[in-house]
Amino acid sequence: MPELPDVEGFKRELAGNALRKTIARVEVSDARILGKLSARTFASRLRGAKLVAVHRHGKHLMARMDHGGWLTLHFGLSGALQFVPSRAEEPPFTRVRLDFADDGGLAYTNKRMIGRVGLAADAADFIVEEKLGPDALDRLFDFAAFKAAVRGVKRDAKSVLMDQEIIAGIGNIYSDEILFQARINPAARMDRLAPAELRRLFRKMRAVLETSAGLLLPERRKGGRCPRCRSLLKVFKVGGRTAYCCRRCQGC
Ligand SMILES: [Zn+2]
Repeated sequence: MPELPDVEGFKRELAGNALRKTIARVEVSDARILGKLSARTFASRLRGAKLVAVHRHGKHLMARMDHGGWLTLHFGLSGALQFVPSRAEEPPFTRVRLDFADDGGLAYTNKRMIGRVGLAADAADFIVEEKLGPDALDRLFDFAAFKAAVRGVKRDAKSVLMDQEIIAGIGNIYSDEILFQARINPAARMDRLAPAELRRLFRKMRAVLETSAGLLLPERRKGGRCPRCRSLLKVFKVGGRTAYCCRRCQGC
């Protein structure tokens, strides 16, 4: 399930292979991914254009077109973006492909079809329309802003971290990792965390997302053990989502 660190990877893929190249052909193999937008409108806006800049906000990617407007990409549960050289085979589950005039193309793949490819007139307006909170790694989203965003939210810490309207970018997997690193019970009420816990949570959120080399991730399975104390992980539901948590380290 693509979360902030994964989408950051797709951003690098696009920035490294697809900028300032003329889009010669647009192929939409499953128009459901476009929602209400027609494949014809989508293709006519992109054909002949160049992508000139790419911006990530939370789990969304936005690429600016040279003649105005933005291509928007959301990856849902199983989406991905990859550059495909001209002679390479098309990756499985390709839903949208942009072929460049010189060489290769950009393939948006999505097995489960949850996600969205679209167009937006303005990136800032798009973020407002999608009701996205500040990006978890935005430089301006410092501890004071984090505290202000979560202050008084009377819900469990895991749900609050995953709420895209409060903080954009974190999903089920990275919320577990961040809480594990911060040694906080996923079911603990956000508004009842001690100031020191809140500060630790913010620091670990930044650290985990920046390095995305967390310790809990490989153990997030049935029978997984705590990487810190090796005790068996507890698996339970928090806010309707499955959480992995160490009883001893996080007190869950
Ligand atoms: Zn432990």
